[in-house]
This record gives sequence, C-alpha cells and structure tokens, in this order.
Amino acid sequence: SVRVRFAPSPTGPLHIGGVRTALYNYLFARKMGGKMLLRIEDTDQNRFVPGAEDYILESLRWVGIEIDEGQGSGGPHAPYRQSERKDIYQKEAQRLVDEGKAYYAFDTAEELDAMRKRLEEANAPAAQYNAITRMQMRNSLTMKPDDIRARIDAGEPYVIRLKTPRKEEVRLNDIIRGWVNVHSSAIDDKILLKSDGLPTYHLANIVDDHLMGITHVIRGEEWLPSAPLHVLLYRYLGWEDTMPQFAHLPLLLKPEGNGKLSKRDADLGGFPIFPLQWTDPVTGQVARGFREDGYLPEATVNFLALLGWNPGTEQELFTMDELIASFDLAQVHKAGARFDIQKAQWFNHQYVRQRPDAELAPIVQQQAEVAGFTCSAEKAEKIAALLKGRVNFARDIFNEATTLFQAPASYDDAIVAAKWNEDAKRAVTVFRDALRSFEGDFVADTIKNTLGDAMQQAGIKQGKIMQAMRLALTGLGAGPDLMLTMEIIGKGETISRLETALA
Ligand code: GLU
Repeated sequence: SVRVRFAPSPTGPLHIGGVRTALYNYLFARKMGGKMLLRIEDTDQNRFVPGAEDYILESLRWVGIEIDEGQGSGGPHAPYRQSERKDIYQKEAQRLVDEGKAYYAFDTAEELDAMRKRLEEANAPAAQYNAITRMQMRNSLTMKPDDIRARIDAGEPYVIRLKTPRKEEVRLNDIIRGWVNVHSSAIDDKILLKSDGLPTYHLANIVDDHLMGITHVIRGEEWLPSAPLHVLLYRYLGWEDTMPQFAHLPLLLKPEGNGKLSKRDADLGGFPIFPLQWTDPVTGQVARGFREDGYLPEATVNFLALLGWNPGTEQELFTMDELIASFDLAQVHKAGARFDIQKAQWFNHQYVRQRPDAELAPIVQQQAEVAGFTCSAEKAEKIAALLKGRVNFARDIFNEATTLFQAPASYDDAIVAAKWNEDAKRAVTVFRDALRSFEGDFVADTIKNTLGDAMQQAGIKQGKIMQAMRLALTGLGAGPDLMLTMEIIGKGETISRLETALA
C-alpha cells in the first residue's frame, strides 16, 4: 500500500511551498488509503537552525496535515531524525565501497581547488570529480591498499564517493513529467558520506526511503536534477526493484509569473511566504506568517491545493475531505504556479464569511475594547453576522464597524447635496416620531415595519428616502443592512442620531 513522506530539512522556517509539498503528499496518501510519514533530514549540521523542527510540526498541525508515522508520531522505523541514524548510512556506504561501487577519497580542499582550476584552464565542459578525473586524484582507486589503511588508521579525513559509471543510460518515469533520460557522464562522483561521518542528502534520502518502504516520492521540482543520481543509487544498492515512483511538483512563481518565488518578493509585496510567523534565532528578525496575518487554515489549504493542481472542473472551494476525494497526482501541472496572494485573500474571504458568528465575536469585542468602546458579546455577535461577508480577514470586521460604535462625526457631502432634501427631512422627522412611541422588541423586522408604516402614512415613497435615512444614521451613502444597523446601535441611539441629523 501507498507510503509517502514529507522530508524537510530544519534549516529555517518552512517555506509555504514546503507546506504545499506536504499537502500534496497528504492528499495522495489519504486518497489512496496509505500512510503519511514525516522524516527530518538534518544531516547538514552547518545549516541546522534551532526551533525549525518544532516550527515544521506546528505548521503541519495548523493546516491540518496529520502525520501517521515519523518524527513526533513514532513508528516502526524510528528514529525518524536522520542525525540519529548515522550507523545505518555508514553501513550502506561501506557496503558500496566493498562492492566496488564507491570509494574513499582523501583529497584536501586545496587539491580539489587545484583540480577545478586545471579543468577550467583546459576548458573542460564541467568541473567534476568523475570517471576521468578521479584517476588523477588521491582516492582508493589510485592509492595502494597499505597506504589507504595507514591513512585511515592515522585518522586522516576522507569522504566516500559514488563511483559513477562512465557510460550508462539513466531513465526514470516521473508521474508528472513523464520520461526523464540522463547519461551517467552528466553525473559526477557525488559524495555519499562526509568526513564528519554523516551522509549527504542523497545517500540518506535513498537509504531511508528504501528502509521506510516509501512507494512515492512527491517533492519540489528543484530535486528533479538529482533524480537520475537517485535512480543510480537505487541500482547500486540493489534496490531498483522496489524503487519508489517519482512526482516532481511545479515551482511556485512570483506573483507576476517571472521567476521563482523568493523571500524578497514577500518583503516587497507585503505578503507572507511562511505558514507561521518566525523569529530568526540569531538576528531576531521577524518574518510574517499566514496564521498571524489572519489567514484561516482552511483558506490556506484551499489556496495551496490549487497552486499547481485543479480538478478540471469549475469548483474552487474545497474542504480537506473534498480535496482528498478529488486529488489526482496525474493532474498536477508541469508549469510553475503563480503565487497570487489576492487569490489567497479571496479564499480567506470565502471562509471568514462561513465562520460561526460566535467564533468571530471575541475578535470584534476585543478590538472594540482596545479602541475604548464597550461591546457586549451579543452586540459583537450581531456585528460579526452583519459584516463578515464584507471582509477578507476577521480582524477587518471591527474596522468596518465604526458607525456601529460612534455617531457620525460628519456627513458625506456628495450624498448631502444629492439626497438631503425637504422630503428626506420630513421622512426622518416622521420616522423619529414613530420610534419615540415604539414599544416592544427593537429588532430588524419590527424596525422595518415601523419605518414602512410611517412612510405610508406620510405618503412618502420609501425608495426615494432610504439613502438619506442611511446618511442621517451613519453619515455615509452606502453600507450594510440598515435595519440591522439600527438594531445593533439600539433604539435610543437611533433616535438620537436622527435628531442630530435634523438639527
Ligand atoms: N530534505 C529535502 C528538502 O529539504 C527533501 C527532498 C526530498 O523530498 O527528497 O527538500
């Protein structure tokens, strides 16, 4: 059965593109009734950033990606942190050496530099350690066995390199991209085990995917160039028969579509590219997060799901369950996906308006109190109901609600000029009088009836004076439902505002 993994490196905050990769893995796993694994690829000790692993776990939790097995969840293949699996990789690297498929290399940084220079001067196509150049270097293919032993015993640092074949066709059939053919001469003798005894990404990744029974490797396009090397490694390790299938996901492009999305675009565009806010542990710099910026997790998921995939229908709004039901790896696009933050805001708008009023009310209430107003939970809930369909973010509800807390300080000049005529003034007077003798529940329905009756008795066409009524109550020419507005501000305040407007 299907087993996929998300395998981030804890080198900083998880990029939002990483969340999309995790999401596609998750959707595929759930759709196929398979398992989703989380593996932490932390073998590059120089790039390790404290806090990054927790950040990854929290980000996945926030968007609702459930991990079946792996770091933070446990499982039969623990440990799931690569730095704790050193021995496993060393054993496999040694096996490759013993079988003549890899070799020790003792070259110093200076020697490698010198090789690079020589190749550059000779105009060699690519500066590489490969089937030709390896014969001029200090490694276990060129040195005497005694010499090798002696150096290892003396503690001289060495790496283990893959003995890449000189002429071999390497092919793979990517689920999204189709056939990829590479000639082995284009692959250099990659380091598999570093001098600190830790594996490189390539070795650790293949060994773990094999041991953890991964059936599908779903990852970003930036790894496509490494895929042939990985196929070669599966072959050399004797695991080609159970090699996972590959699916390389399209890049995320800048909002304008010109090139890969980078951190700078986010800074310039004023939008987040991380799921959660992140404070750099060294510089103290704060990077914005979708969560802290007010995006709801379901909006974030919906937005990300459609960055590189669509179901081939008009449907845009999907719950996680609907995504699982519709998702298909074969429908993922090859072309890069434009990171359109306006679309993210549109999705957020769609989900904010679906949120229960009671859930949005505390946000309104708190903002109102900070601004110095009193606001009951009941009033906050009514405000949420009235305005949630008009905003992109929950925090904007309060900004839209000024007229529900304060009488107008001024009146829109253009509306005054166009609508504040004798009829309007008479209508406002008549309605005020009707409200003075109003008894009972002051709610939208009864207010509406009162207004209707009053206008009928006075022989005023309601349609002609509604904008003036709104002007008197809010100072503005447009806004949300006026009956609900009056209900929220209450009878006393309504009458008082009408009087002020008439004065
Ligand atoms: N550790 C790699 C990364 O950070 C994983 C690549 C892969 O999925 O093979 O992207």
